[in-house]
Amino acid sequence: MRLLIVEDEDSIAIPLADGLRREGFEVERVATGAQALAAPEPDLILLDLRLPDMDGYSVAREWRTRSRVPIIMVTARGEEVDRVVGLEIGADDYVVKPFGLRELIARINAVMRRSGDSGAVDEVPDEMSSGDLEVSLRTRRVTIGGQELHLTPREFDILAMLIADPGAVVSRDDLLRRLWGTTWAVQTKAIDVHVSSLRRKMGDPAWVETVRGVGFRLGTPSA
Ligand code: CA
Repeated sequence: MRLLIVEDEDSIAIPLADGLRREGFEVERVATGAQALAAPEPDLILLDLRLPDMDGYSVAREWRTRSRVPIIMVTARGEEVDRVVGLEIGADDYVVKPFGLRELIARINAVMRRSGDSGAVDEVPDEMSSGDLEVSLRTRRVTIGGQELHLTPREFDILAMLIADPGAVVSRDDLLRRLWGTTWAVQTKAIDVHVSSLRRKMGDPAWVETVRGVGFRLGTPSA
């Protein structure tokens, strides 16, 4: 498995690359955003947010225009708002400096497992519907009354989890575990950002009901 480490600080990057190589990863390390964008596509990118030539978000955004390669962002403590932005861009997970090698490898494995099966939901039919909402897991297409919605991967995954069991409450912890592989690295606020964007695109907030203190369930718009 080929990792691309994008990190300008040698004191972090060198021991990290050495440690990961000892664990059997193939590691390429670059120190700038420009080098990161010029590198051949790896299996996973570990991306520092503070780079000398550009910020990590721009690097992630640019990579997202060409591939779905998993991206783990590396943040400094206290960059809470930035994390939400990162999730919107399509980062797959976060680690907060300083982090241990064990923790990082666990995150890498979780992200790779999730990206291996593209649908976040298993043991459910490929095509599901509720009212005039239709969701295809196979093609990742969503339509309401025949009109296609253009959802981000996260929005799609959230909707897929809700429609897999219409009426059932999906907890925030379940969403975090299934979609981010963790319950603590991601702020639950990030879920709200995706859900409110999903509601907006669905055209009626009643499609996604908030169950206060628990989570969400698929609703039925009355009109
Ligand atoms: Ca840095």
